[in-house]
Amino acid sequence: MADKTELIGLDKDELQKALTAIGEKPFRAKQLWQWLYYFGETDFDKMTNLSKNLRQKLKENFTITRPKIITEQLSSDKTRKWLLEFADGERVEMVYIPEEDRGAVCISTQVGCAVGCKFCHTGSQKLTRNLSAAEIVSQFMVARDTYGEWPSPTQETRYLSNIVVMGMGEPLHNRENVIKALNIITDGDGIAISRRRVTLSTSGIAPHIVSTLQATGVRLAVSLHAPNDNLRSTIMPINRRYSIDEVLSACREYQAGDGSRYITFEYLLLDGINDSAECAQQLIALMKKYGLRASFNLIPFNPWPGSAFKPSSNSKVRAFAKILADAGFAAPIRVARGQDILAACGQLKSANKQ
Ligand code: SF4
Repeated sequence: MADKTELIGLDKDELQKALTAIGEKPFRAKQLWQWLYYFGETDFDKMTNLSKNLRQKLKENFTITRPKIITEQLSSDKTRKWLLEFADGERVEMVYIPEEDRGAVCISTQVGCAVGCKFCHTGSQKLTRNLSAAEIVSQFMVARDTYGEWPSPTQETRYLSNIVVMGMGEPLHNRENVIKALNIITDGDGIAISRRRVTLSTSGIAPHIVSTLQATGVRLAVSLHAPNDNLRSTIMPINRRYSIDEVLSACREYQAGDGSRYITFEYLLLDGINDSAECAQQLIALMKKYGLRASFNLIPFNPWPGSAFKPSSNSKVRAFAKILADAGFAAPIRVARGQDILAACGQLKSANKQ
């Protein structure tokens, strides 16, 4: 018998085709979509509005798979971290960062990463492979399983309210699968996370920024981390490929299409490297030069074993934030979360190396 087809990760058209291929009417796809993505059901036998006959057929032809949870850790500050394993044994991390009555799930898009940012633990783990759309979507489904958020709650009652595509991997190096996954996650008949509540974070793969954001309608965050090419190239080698000018020109083009688009620039503060007052002034000059409507997310560095950098002092971080704020840019300092469960990018996977 031919291999069964995995249903998670199919878009609406593909689901329809899969059903037609087993002799079912296309309208069944709507019901099945709802079971998969609105109810989060993983057991065909519980799809009660489908006939017994159809359920049997579905079982014979399809699978509904979640990644396996290898470890799950809950921090004293309620940050939760999962190490997930896919069918081929490859593993990624996912983190949930709660706020008071809502929170963001940080999902991964690749196993490892080819970008090699010097400050990033994932960057020190070579790229193994891209995740499929199914693997990207099913991460978030695991988070919903954990928090019992099925069927899809209303926007107001959601605990898992936001998604940040900011875990392991560079999403724009796995564009097709990321676009497909985000369109499934934001589909109003299923998981229904609003596009405004999904943020895609890139290290700056300039040629793909505008098209990917257009294809998904989600928000953009850019890992900038330095205000000039010399410095950025030393901590983010990708900058030699796509300069700050190319990245910020793409950002400007993205904003030109819609006045409501706001960009978040991620800025990790590394002691003595990129945390001077001059760096802050250069950032402001860049924003003005490209006319960008943006805010900064200032991130205190969370050192990992073997990292070459130290975190900036609290007073330096505050002084940096003040310069940006005085120039009219929102520049919140991200509170370090989950320190007791190694919440920095890539740390859980390394600690559990097979
Ligand atoms: S920061 Fe992101 S893009 Fe850079 S190496 Fe880490 S995972 Fe890759």
